[in-house]
Amino acid sequence: MRFTRDSFARTMKAAMLRTDRGARGWRARATDVLPGGVNSPVRAWNGVGGTPLPITSARGATITDAAGHTRIDLVGSWGAAIAGHAHPHVVDAVAKAAKQGLSFGATTEAEVELAEAIRSRIAPAARVRLVSTGTEATMTALRIARAATGRDKVVKFAGCYHGHADPFLVAAGSGLATAGVPDSAGITATTAADTIVLPYGDAQALTAAFAEHGQTIAAVITEAAPANMGVVRPPDGFNTLIASLSRHEGSVFILDEVLTGFRAGPQGWWGVERDAALMRGEQPWQPDLITYGKVIGGGLPVAAVAGRADLMDMLAPVGPVYQAGTLSGNPVAVAAGLATFEVMDADAYVRLSLAADAVREGVSEAFMASGVTHAVGQAGTLFSFFLGLDTPPTTFDQVAAQDTAAYSSLFHHMRGAGVALPPSAFESWFVSVAHEERLTRRIVDAAGTWLS
Ligand SMILES: *Cc1c(COP(=O)(O)O)cnc(C)c1O
Repeated sequence: MRFTRDSFARTMKAAMLRTDRGARGWRARATDVLPGGVNSPVRAWNGVGGTPLPITSARGATITDAAGHTRIDLVGSWGAAIAGHAHPHVVDAVAKAAKQGLSFGATTEAEVELAEAIRSRIAPAARVRLVSTGTEATMTALRIARAATGRDKVVKFAGCYHGHADPFLVAAGSGLATAGVPDSAGITATTAADTIVLPYGDAQALTAAFAEHGQTIAAVITEAAPANMGVVRPPDGFNTLIASLSRHEGSVFILDEVLTGFRAGPQGWWGVERDAALMRGEQPWQPDLITYGKVIGGGLPVAAVAGRADLMDMLAPVGPVYQAGTLSGNPVAVAAGLATFEVMDADAYVRLSLAADAVREGVSEAFMASGVTHAVGQAGTLFSFFLGLDTPPTTFDQVAAQDTAAYSSLFHHMRGAGVALPPSAFESWFVSVAHEERLTRRIVDAAGTWLS
């Protein structure tokens, strides 16, 4: 192998980072300039301990750090990398778009095509507005709901994550309807008071909240299937109940599919429940507004709020609800989203589903063989493991009882065995179309050597 000066410098740096001192030195530099050394908290590994190294590249199902270690990746950019990292079709589309100009601050054909691609798959998405992050999407959905209803309050469920806008950074402890207590500093008491937090999946609590506050509830927001407290399968009929109570009381049902959209199934979790309802000969429930993110940008910043035409036409410039974005519908980002939709044909979803089944079932069997108490959370192709629990949890209180110290041990064991798990017990494990059998088998083998 011939060393250029560049590759020599890279190799030296990688060797340095492989030592503890080298890694800590890097970390000190990062924390000196970035709060906590990161631009998003989970990346700091506070949930599992240890020192994260910078990532240098990712391809297909693998990710490589600055010390030169390549591992099988089960984070997938938190689900965005559904086609596999740096899929050639997506990268080509991005390069082609970039050559035409990085941003225009004006509308392009590709934006219309991406919005049409969403609507063609999701019937309730009559109109679509593209934004850059899931946070903007849920924030905008709530603003529309408040404008449409003239009401202030929003109902959310403990353990559901909707991005970091103030009204959603509120979660209460156990119990029935609680006036919101902020989860983050910097949120006013007034904002928190407008958020009603209920235990997830609790039909009684939801019915009671509507009986007490019905005329003041602008919106109910829920993750289509919760996947930000580990994966929690919605109890049968829960989304149906949200839809019918919302309709009855004139509130807006906001379905947050930022994570589950085009991931839990080809039409998100909404599609999974719709198909099941049709099979039973029932009328499927309908959300009023839906939010998307992650997959629809294929790794670049694209998110969306979509839904009923009358609600979406509340948005400026048609209606009185202001919402805007310098980089909204950015041509390069939109190209990545469109190319990802092209890669994700019916066959790709079959492969995604097979990969998810192989890891979920294989790891669970490996845990059973070594006597590891665990429960499996599953919603379509999404899954996670709850160590120390023996039945799948349905509320955040139950989720919180999992053994996070055991997860930390698993995380570091898997890392040593060449598998990168999410750095928190409260996250979903993400596979991609590139997680072929040879790789899923390696993941299962690695799990089999933990505690055995
Ligand atoms: C990731 C996520 C968000 C926030 O999206 P960002 O792009 O990180 O702002 C909102 N809701 C759900 C369900 C998510 O998983």
